[in-house]
Amino acid sequence: MQIPLLLWKTKTFIEATQGELLGLGMYYGSMLVMVLYNLFVFLSVRERNYLYYVLFVGSSALFIASLNGISFQFLWPNATRWNDQAIIIFLLGIVLFGSLFTRDFLQLRIAIPLLSRIANIIAVMTLGSMVLTAFLPYSTMIMASIVIAVIAIGLSITAGTMRWAEGDTSARYYTVAWFSLLVGGVILALNKIDILPRNFITENATQIGSALEVILLSFALADRLNVEKKKRFEAQVNALEHEKVARIAQTEALSQEKNARHAQEKALEHEREAREAQASALEIQRRANETLERRVKERTNELEQANKQLENLSLTDGLTGIRNRRYLNKALSSEFSRAYREKEPLGILLIDIDFFKNFNDQYGHLIGDDCLRQVASTISMQTHRDNDVVARFGGEEFCLLLPNTDTDGSLHVAEQVRQSVEAIRFIVDDKHVAITISIGVTSLIPDTEMEQEKMVALADAALYKAKENGRNQVMLCNT
Ligand code: GH3
Ligand code: MG
Ligand code: MG
Repeated sequence: MQIPLLLWKTKTFIEATQGELLGLGMYYGSMLVMVLYNLFVFLSVRERNYLYYVLFVGSSALFIASLNGISFQFLWPNATRWNDQAIIIFLLGIVLFGSLFTRDFLQLRIAIPLLSRIANIIAVMTLGSMVLTAFLPYSTMIMASIVIAVIAIGLSITAGTMRWAEGDTSARYYTVAWFSLLVGGVILALNKIDILPRNFITENATQIGSALEVILLSFALADRLNVEKKKRFEAQVNALEHEKVARIAQTEALSQEKNARHAQEKALEHEREAREAQASALEIQRRANETLERRVKERTNELEQANKQLENLSLTDGLTGIRNRRYLNKALSSEFSRAYREKEPLGILLIDIDFFKNFNDQYGHLIGDDCLRQVASTISMQTHRDNDVVARFGGEEFCLLLPNTDTDGSLHVAEQVRQSVEAIRFIVDDKHVAITISIGVTSLIPDTEMEQEKMVALADAALYKAKENGRNQVMLCNT
């Protein structure tokens, strides 16, 4: 046991004590700050490690305060027996909460299960020892407590070093922290066994080591918290990243689907447009065809009409408007053949205006033409059958073809014609001019010996007879 004795002058003693008290104040102040600060952290984050740490720091401060007599002086001035026990109880407290803190902080249960079990055993031993302090004397219990404490510090430094070696960054602060306390303890011990001289540093080595430890452990806790926060944040960031990638992929898929749908719609649209274009092309073609057909029809009709007109013109007499000699020849030929086939009579009338040369000479050719027109229309009005043909034979001569008309019928028609011409009231210079005609008639059923020229010649002969007989009369000649 060290019993240091110093003789002070009052003034020097007070001066020296002031500095010492300031140092102690700083120590306990920082301990109190640590306790309060980490208690608040514990209350807000509910991490058990913070509670162990707070209890550990509290025990450390109270242990040193008891060891130095500070707590006896200020906290329990009259409790002398408790003051003995308090040193052991707080020392055991340090060991108990330090071990629990170590176990959880270094995650020994998973990382190094054997050390975790040892930590548990130490905790049980400290609890047992706390109970025993009530019954066993101080000198026994302090020895037992120191043994447990040494084991606990050994455990802590071993576990910290191992975890540090395994790559746990927080274990670095942790190991250094315990090492500080160990160094403080060793310095104190060396001082106590008189190897190191007794001075301020050696006397307060434990406090300094403990203060360093507490601060470093606080760093370790903050670091652990940081690391975990970082891990959580990274996990969250990863999750967010994955979510983002998934969302991008989904968006891309949706956009591709949309594009595909769009392309399909466009294709359908094109197809529809093509169909429409085809339909309209067909429609245009159809209309063009229709127009063409209509035009062709129109043109054909026009052509037919023109042809008919042309034919009519070619078969009509320009002066009188009745059939001309050409038509008469064709009609005579076909009617003659038919009469022959059907064994029917064919009547032929040859008509000649009497003294027409004189008429012309007296009134002029223009009035002669008028007369010819008048006579032609009058003759036409006397033919009633569809097949009857009235034609200008030439000059002032006309011919009437009467199919299927016998001699009597032909003579009857001739007489009718003669009378109707005689009845014409032709006025020239307000004077009536008489017009008469002579008509030669023939009517017979053609046989093998008869020819159409011969029939005309018969009619002509009859006409000649009528002229000879005095004109304005009808004559028949059938042989
Ligand atoms: P006939 O009684 O013997 O028949 O006496 P005619 O004077 O009529 O004698 P003919 O038959 O020989 O006369 C024909 C005359 O008819 C000749 C011509 O002066 C007249 N003639 C013939 N063709 C036309 C015609 O196209 N226009 C007019 N104005 N006269 C015509
Ligand atoms: Mg004549
Ligand atoms: Mg005549």
